[in-house]
Amino acid sequence: MTEAERRELVERYKQERIRQVNLTAPKSAIYGKEDMLNLPRHRVLHKCHNFEECPLCYKCRAYDPKYESCRRCVLAKEGLLCDTSYHRTDIINRMITRERIDLDAKEQQRAV
Ligand SMILES: [Zn+2]
Repeated sequence: MTEAERRELVERYKQERIRQVNLTAPKSAIYGKEDMLNLPRHRVLHKCHNFEECPLCYKCRAYDPKYESCRRCVLAKEGLLCDTSYHRTDIINRMITRERIDLDAKEQQRAV
């Protein structure tokens, strides 16, 4: 693949890419598979300050067997820990496109 082909492919990808989707979700719609009123975070509310919710499966990502409190945690006993190798921060960051603010306007200078 030549440089021109590659650039054309990148331009086409940028044009066809969905930048923003506006949805109005009805209040009655439930998108989670789990019981949304009984999520892992509700089990450790006010009990564990280290709880880190996985945005994909809602389980705890902060489990560390080094700590006694983690080993005794109700989430560890019930297997409510996110141990899926695909739910890594770098992969999640790639799924969520964030708006970039270029403070120095370097991108614009490059484009001109
Ligand atoms: Zn997860």
